[in-house]
Amino acid sequence: MEITTKLLKWYDQNRRTHLPWREDPTPYHVWVSEIMLQQTRVEAALPYYSRFIRELPDIYALSMCEEEKLLMLWQGLGYYSRVRNLQKAARRILQEHAGQLPSSVKELTALPGIGRYTAGAIASIAFGKKEIAPDGNAYRVAARLLNEKESIDQAQVKKRLEKHLSSWVPEDRPGDFNQALMDLGSGVCIPNGPARCESCPLQRECVSLRMGTADQLPVRDAKKKRPKEDVLVLKIRMIGKIMIVKRAPKMLLSGMWSLPTYHIPDMAYLDQQIQEKISNGRVKDLGKHHRVFSGCEWNMRGLEIELTETDAVSDSWLGVRADAYTETAWVREEQWQSDFSVPTAYRFYLEKRKK
Ligand code: SF4
Repeated sequence: MEITTKLLKWYDQNRRTHLPWREDPTPYHVWVSEIMLQQTRVEAALPYYSRFIRELPDIYALSMCEEEKLLMLWQGLGYYSRVRNLQKAARRILQEHAGQLPSSVKELTALPGIGRYTAGAIASIAFGKKEIAPDGNAYRVAARLLNEKESIDQAQVKKRLEKHLSSWVPEDRPGDFNQALMDLGSGVCIPNGPARCESCPLQRECVSLRMGTADQLPVRDAKKKRPKEDVLVLKIRMIGKIMIVKRAPKMLLSGMWSLPTYHIPDMAYLDQQIQEKISNGRVKDLGKHHRVFSGCEWNMRGLEIELTETDAVSDSWLGVRADAYTETAWVREEQWQSDFSVPTAYRFYLEKRKK
């Protein structure tokens, strides 16, 4: 219990203020914020959160939102499956739970996009249930406190740590306890670089600090390497407008607007093919860019092509087929920013000309 008391006391003195989802922790607010924060830092998420809640203040509004607007509200946060799942879950909540988020971890985890961590966070923070919210922060802090030497990616190790976490969660303030653990994990017992043990309220309880092993913990499984893909992006201009395409369903960045995109055998192939085209003056090299997605990495290369009205726009430019798309639009220079959901991967090229 020492851990619980000390952590809550520390939280009361150090809690992060001015976080809108903490100031008004309705189930909907906690849910949206937790989904947003899965891959995004708190500071970066704040403006997105405020705009999202302003535009879609409740589950009903979220369920009714048009896809284009929904993607635009998420534009810049990446990992768009998160917002699609939010909407799918909102529709299920309307059908199956009379429009109210359920309060049990079991019912919450049955909804799209809500995993064990998010369910625990909603149940404890919004409903006051004695549940753990085991995310990377919680596992890391627990592993260091207990000097856990096995990989926290292993299911049986996670179970072991969860058992300890459950024993620390208090009846009266489960939400605060979980948030304290999140804050401690993100600000003191940090993931990259040495833990800031000198500021930690749990120094006396921490076995790894005593044993001098804190900096080697937690142990993780070796990361699988993401496949790298060479990708050509075309910025095609014609009479002051740029061609954008809506990416087809069931592919990376589906449903979003992008520049025409080609998966090419490799950059060397491209260099060979474009040399002549660049030298004729109508093709400009826009340079290289790198983007990391959850399942792959793109080595991107951009080319700008100025077409005349008589030129044909080919899907198989350079002998490589473009990524599938369902719609085409010709837009003015600034229009794509205000009217279309464009993933960050393409902004590098779309914004180039303004400089
Ligand atoms: Fe983490 Fe250091 Fe605190 Fe232990 S004493 S929980 S290693 S910050």
